[in-house]
Amino acid sequence: MDIVRGVSIDLHTHSLESDGTDTPRELMHAAAQAGLSVIALTDHDTTGGWDEAAAAVSETGVALVRGTEISTNHQGISVHLLSYLHDPGNTELTEVFERSRRFRDTRARRMVKKIGADYDLKWKDVEQQASEGATIGRPHIADALVQRGHVADRTEAFAEILTPSGPYYVRYESPDLTETVALVRSAGGVPVVAHVRASARGRVISDEAIASLVEHGLAGIEVDHRDHTEADRQHLRHFARELGVFTTGSSDYHGTGKPNRLGENTTPQEVFEQIVAAGSLNVVTP
Ligand code: AMP
Ligand code: ZN
Ligand code: FE
Ligand code: FE
Repeated sequence: MDIVRGVSIDLHTHSLESDGTDTPRELMHAAAQAGLSVIALTDHDTTGGWDEAAAAVSETGVALVRGTEISTNHQGISVHLLSYLHDPGNTELTEVFERSRRFRDTRARRMVKKIGADYDLKWKDVEQQASEGATIGRPHIADALVQRGHVADRTEAFAEILTPSGPYYVRYESPDLTETVALVRSAGGVPVVAHVRASARGRVISDEAIASLVEHGLAGIEVDHRDHTEADRQHLRHFARELGVFTTGSSDYHGTGKPNRLGENTTPQEVFEQIVAAGSLNVVTP
């Protein structure tokens, strides 16, 4: 396939198919506005936005890597695994996504029930914040809390009400990280652990745990991400070199839902080329 030259590449973004605030098409236009030449759409536990984003490639001139950010856990620690260019028809992977979306839905209802004991908040308030078929997450509860006037924005909702250390938090079941890395490979995808040192989100996995993923097919580590300190980044860069896996940089853009701006971190061309070579789907190019 043609590899685009002289490019700016952002490999982690969200749309309304999960907890972003742009439609997939709007996201592609925002990427063009931001001067990006390649983006990956990586909504949580879904491939739902792929077709709409792909349809916007020619009108925006932005190439599209089809991806998913998969919710997993390693010994009870929540880990987000990015998968790029996997076969959307893989039954086992599709079932993993469906199961996670179901568990997320039940979990969000439980959280709303708990919150509803202290704040005026109903499940229908949350439903109104999510688009049809979207993967439900805490950001939708945050938006409902904002709409109800309990907090000013998502950031405040997370800090004061939705935090894992608070009384309203409910965990949800997710598949084992190691098994999911192997599953992504068997579905032709390229597995990359997302914001693996983002300790403000909760407990993070050890270096040993990351190392053990390599034999199961881990391809890369997301290093340049706003939730990583400079020390985290330096450490992970050295560590990735030791392990023989590549490193990526990405924005984790969520539209107006988070301060993250498209292209605030980017991935080098040669890493992008490795992902393209290892994935089973093509990149959708203009
Ligand atoms: P969940 O997957 O339902 O546990 O919610 C996690 C999602 O919330 C991820 O997509 C995060 O990007 C998002 N998130 C975490 N902290 C914040 C925050 N402070 N403000 C806005 N979004 C956040
Ligand atoms: Zn998200
Ligand atoms: Fe994530
Ligand atoms: Fe994300």
